[in-house]
Amino acid sequence: MRRLLLAVALLGAACTNSRAGQVGPISDPVRARRMMEWATRIVEAGPAAQGHPEKPRVQALLKRELREMGLEVSQYPFTVDMPELGMRWDLVNLMVSFRPEAKHRILVGAHWDIRPWADEDPDPARRSLPFDGANDGVSGTVVLLELARELSREPPPEGVGVDLVFFDGEEGPKDTPYHYLGSKDLAANWAKTGVALPARGLIVDMVGRKGLTIRREGFSQERARVVLDEVFAIARKKGARHFVDAPGKHILDDHIAFLQRGIPVANLIDIDDPNWHTQDDRLENLDPHAMAEVAEVVLEWIRNQRPPGG
Ligand SMILES: [Zn+2]
Repeated sequence: MRRLLLAVALLGAACTNSRAGQVGPISDPVRARRMMEWATRIVEAGPAAQGHPEKPRVQALLKRELREMGLEVSQYPFTVDMPELGMRWDLVNLMVSFRPEAKHRILVGAHWDIRPWADEDPDPARRSLPFDGANDGVSGTVVLLELARELSREPPPEGVGVDLVFFDGEEGPKDTPYHYLGSKDLAANWAKTGVALPARGLIVDMVGRKGLTIRREGFSQERARVVLDEVFAIARKKGARHFVDAPGKHILDDHIAFLQRGIPVANLIDIDDPNWHTQDDRLENLDPHAMAEVAEVVLEWIRNQRPPGG
């Protein structure tokens, strides 16, 4: 509860700061507040770290929120064996599909799991414990919830199917091949969803920190440039302050498995978070307006999609 109150107090401060002396439009403050409330509730229920008892609570919370929007949530459980580590992880991707009959589909994904270890924490004593994952995990999840809410109120364009995927197992043991497990499973086994393969897509990850700066992630630029061009054009038109149309780093993330299948899925990410994989990746380091801006840009990208020849 203490954390909850603190987050609400800081939300007020963040709103004031971002309005002061700023240029250009800002995100809808009602949206920013709603998204921060979701983030707070997810962090309070979590962290959704593998092997920790809080993880099923977060999954239940996500399903409840989506069902309250009148949406049907599909669950895709899978298991990953890591014999050399003596570990076996049971994981679950969640998916909400709009216009499931549409052959032309777009994917928007984020990982809902939180890293079970704070490997990068400066204090070695704190590295073995999970952390809030407010930016790394929760922020992208909250963008998906906001998109779900918007699309439940006004469906995607005629002939355009949208699959919102909450990937599990993005975070795996350090120095092993066991990462991005949910996206690898679903990209390899998309047939189990019963909907057509996506034609293109976006991943949102680490999109909530104060000072958020999204550049053109390297692999996306090379293999999903068409998607990035559309996103940055929308960001420019909207005056989105957290998008900088410049080359970014190459990041391995949930888009890679789709790129390897030849599907242009771009990654919207800001990896330069000083709190990345540390105990300081907390709610109070989130900027609700940054998250809202990302949701608004991605929502407009979805609304601009058209089926081929449409
Ligand atoms: Zn991470």
